[in-house]
Amino acid sequence: MIEVHELRKRYGDRLAVDGLSFTVRPGQVTGFLGPNGAGKSTTLRMIVGLDHPTGGTATVNGRRYRDHPDPLRQAGALLEARSVHRGRTARSHLLALAQTHGIGRRRVDEVLALVGLDTAAGRRAGGFSLGMGQRLGIAAALLGDPAVVILDEPVNGLDPDGVLWVRTLLQDLAAEGRTVLVSSHLMSEMALTAEHLVIIGRGRLLADTTVAELIDRVAVGTVLVRSPRAGELRDALCAAGAAVTTTEAGVLQVARADATVIGELAARQGIPLYELTPRRASLEEAYMDLTKEAVEYR
Ligand code: ADP
Repeated sequence: MIEVHELRKRYGDRLAVDGLSFTVRPGQVTGFLGPNGAGKSTTLRMIVGLDHPTGGTATVNGRRYRDHPDPLRQAGALLEARSVHRGRTARSHLLALAQTHGIGRRRVDEVLALVGLDTAAGRRAGGFSLGMGQRLGIAAALLGDPAVVILDEPVNGLDPDGVLWVRTLLQDLAAEGRTVLVSSHLMSEMALTAEHLVIIGRGRLLADTTVAELIDRVAVGTVLVRSPRAGELRDALCAAGAAVTTTEAGVLQVARADATVIGELAARQGIPLYELTPRRASLEEAYMDLTKEAVEYR
């Protein structure tokens, strides 16, 4: 479990994180979303003790990360800046990390196999592709068999195979009962991976919600109407202040009037309706709507 309470981080005169509070629970993948510069990486760095908060607290399994005697067993993280010695092989990189944390050799081979690097274990990390580098970073995060896994933009730059692999891995880790927090600026990818979403903009919490709730929250505000007397209905709606567009004969897209208003107006005029459908937002649209101001401000 990760608990963030009134977390704040100031860089000079800029508040990168501005009073964030949220809880990340075990057993599901939580997506951490926001436009570039929203404060995601800064928040993740504070959770794992790489940055000092200006105010507030961030705890992992009930304690500040660096107060744990066995931090790597509590939480494993892949943060954006990867620190791999380019001349070292994948195995020796992980072995060095394991040795400083009292983790055995066998676990190194286990995580290498888990991320599909067993055959590349003897190659120098400096020659790795972006995808292999990400796999090595994830292997390092999983080395301590941690209850909490934190990944910052893990699919950045990966090919479709790699993206699918990360998605499946994250879901498996969550199914094992771990707490999984994964950041992204791409709603479309998170929609497929995460059950729960924490969305921030300009360092502030915009939403802490499930994917389904987020879609319901955002009204797109248009209604699709099908009628054999569409022209007449269109005139009546426009006269009533609605905005109407037509894309095909007999079909209207109506804005500035909801389904109730349209239905009642049609009934009063005796115009039959074949369809009256408020359009649901796609997750992408819901996200755009939510983060619109945060982006515009920048
Ligand atoms: P995100 O991960 O959501 O893209 P970041 O946490 O990287 O956002 O950045 C949030 C804000 O804090 C940005 O405006 C960024 O420029 C600023 N920032 C991040 N790290 C530093 C730093 N070390 N020094 C100064 N400003 C920083």
